[in-house]
Amino acid sequence: MPKFVLAIDQGTTSTRSIIYDEQGARVGIGQREHRQIFPEQGWVEHDPNEIWDNTRLVIATAIADADVDPSTIRAIGITNQRETTVVWDKRTGEPVYNAIVWQDTRTAGAAGALGLDQAAWLERTGLLINSYPAGPKIAWILDHVDGARERAEHGELAFGTIDAWLLFKLTGQHRTDVTNASRTLLMNLDTLEWDPELCEKLRVPASMLPEICSSVDDFGTVTHHGLLEGIPVTAVLGDQQAAMFGQGCFSPGQAKCTYGTGLFLLLNTGSQKVTSANGMLSTVCYRIRGEKPVYALEGSVAVGGALIQWLRDNLGIIRIAPEVERLAQTVPDNGGVTIVPAFSGLFAPRWVPDARGIITGLTRFATKAHLARAALEATAMQVREVTDAMVADSGVELEVLRVDGGMVANELLMQLQADVLGVDVLRPVDIETTASGVAYAAGLGAGLWETLEVVASHAEAAKTWAPAMDAAKVASLVAQWNEAVARSL
Ligand code: ADP
Repeated sequence: MPKFVLAIDQGTTSTRSIIYDEQGARVGIGQREHRQIFPEQGWVEHDPNEIWDNTRLVIATAIADADVDPSTIRAIGITNQRETTVVWDKRTGEPVYNAIVWQDTRTAGAAGALGLDQAAWLERTGLLINSYPAGPKIAWILDHVDGARERAEHGELAFGTIDAWLLFKLTGQHRTDVTNASRTLLMNLDTLEWDPELCEKLRVPASMLPEICSSVDDFGTVTHHGLLEGIPVTAVLGDQQAAMFGQGCFSPGQAKCTYGTGLFLLLNTGSQKVTSANGMLSTVCYRIRGEKPVYALEGSVAVGGALIQWLRDNLGIIRIAPEVERLAQTVPDNGGVTIVPAFSGLFAPRWVPDARGIITGLTRFATKAHLARAALEATAMQVREVTDAMVADSGVELEVLRVDGGMVANELLMQLQADVLGVDVLRPVDIETTASGVAYAAGLGAGLWETLEVVASHAEAAKTWAPAMDAAKVASLVAQWNEAVARSL
């Protein structure tokens, strides 16, 4: 009898369910978008009940699409938008407020106002004190919803990131995994437990918090979904960590970059937690029950594909994103032109919020093709800066970069990336690595696949780009980039 694994991928804009067979191949999918709620400037909310309704719906759609008997589904994995915060009543299961989404900036000043020492918190939690982590979002709900703090102190309310919310709806359990817990500012990154002192500082009662499990673990069996009744949930991973799993980045030195609107990098640093001196976050990459945790450094770049959108929408030099590759290919090099897309300042690893974008090296010779090439080089260079910082922080040598996201269709960019990094760039067959990653983890948990090696074999690369540019040319590109960056400050 064939066996299948079902992934629930709850993202910022939509919820998807994808079913995989024993070979790790996708056999069915369901997807549905949910409302983005903007009550005030800078605030972003989701309706947790809508997300739960959509989850039920996309599960049914995926099962119908795959045309499988639900009883052949052996395990469920949940991956989710990270940091998004739900608080609900333990008895009724009703949320007391909308989910506050990771992008929401209402807590930007809150942690700072508590007089927290950034360096100490970075060491203890791996996170920077800004508006992303869940902890201050919980405190905001307790302080702004009538009676919520009192109910929380009486043990009546529960907190969860979206994984825990869906798990509660599916199984009745109140659990989360260690990767999601590592995005709250409430978990100690060494003990992997809720830290009473941090909870007290952020004014979050311990009784609200879910039990922290490993990422591959026993999360309970489904009791609240007819089709999936009795099926175990065996894996939970935050979305970026699930992508690491989907990319098979299981050993130190393996990194992945997701090239979307922004660029999101994670480097596996092994069983050692590394505290960054270069503005990177430390996070749990994954943990398999009974084994040591695996840590990662994380860094993101604000402007990735957004620069291509800018060439298209603001300059009008391309009509659609893929044209940037054809245009850039019409010239052998950048003709001296460099673009530094510091549209909203420079982020990791430079952290200069008031830097602004510039184009340098313009002469009468420069054409839109040079601009297109400079845009792709800017993307590759920003990734190089982040990986350089991660290597400097961790002492872990970069071995390979595995890639996913919309921009990886651009093969010239992939070649440039391999050239400026000096390591192979690998693009997998299935670039939906978030869903496949949590499905692999769930299959591992259910014994469908016995080892990480078998799992990694599912994540095989469809195409590899090896470094081909000579060292002197790379050095001159880097020097040209650094000179331009210095002028953007
Ligand atoms: P997100 O998940 O952030 O919406 P996607 O992973 O869907 O992003 O990727 C879309 C981004 O990739 C857009 O910014 C778009 O400009 C860029 N993009 C898409 N195709 C190409 C291409 N062939 N070359 C360069 N950039 C591209």
